[in-house]
Amino acid sequence: MGFAVAEMAQKRGAHVTVVCGATTVEPPANVEVIRAVSAEEMFQAVMKQLPEASIFIGAAAVADYRPRKVVEVKIKKTVNDIFNLELEKTPDILANVSKHRHAKLLVVGFAAETNDVVAYAKSKMEKKDLDLVVANDITKKGAGFNSDTNIATIITRSGEIDLPLMSKRDLSDKILDEVLKLREMA
Ligand code: C5P
Repeated sequence: MGFAVAEMAQKRGAHVTVVCGATTVEPPANVEVIRAVSAEEMFQAVMKQLPEASIFIGAAAVADYRPRKVVEVKIKKTVNDIFNLELEKTPDILANVSKHRHAKLLVVGFAAETNDVVAYAKSKMEKKDLDLVVANDITKKGAGFNSDTNIATIITRSGEIDLPLMSKRDLSDKILDEVLKLREMA
């Protein structure tokens, strides 16, 4: 989804920088690509690019937790059948971007949900102080991960747009149309 938005924004003439994690999908042409292996690396790269940006679109499915302790040696098995790994929260990149934004930055987030999609997405918009959130029900066929299509609702403070199944490129265009409307109003 991130690559589709990047591609369509670049085609409209935007200067696009994509900070992406491990992926088997090829990034689009003519965009700057910064690779980040961990949530922490992605966070650092995003914060570094932010002063140059006028629109931030957070489409990555960032891991919410990471192992608290990283060891250099092999962890040997024990007699126990259960092995507990302690996890700690990763930085919420989108929330941090929003919190540290300069006055002209528009911040767009995604909300992949399995139930009460629009309600959860709206609470995310409030909590992370987003200008726009793209909500999708990942239980629907053709929506979300491992697919070239998506089914989404675009939510802004002034309303909701329910969209039917469409290609991720077409959805990107709809998102960008709404982002540009917000920019004109700003
Ligand atoms: O709170 P939740 O993870 O459901 O919100 C999803 C949104 O937050 C997406 O836009 C995702 O890219 C972003 N996110 C992030 N950093 C995280 C977790 C989620 O930027 N550590």
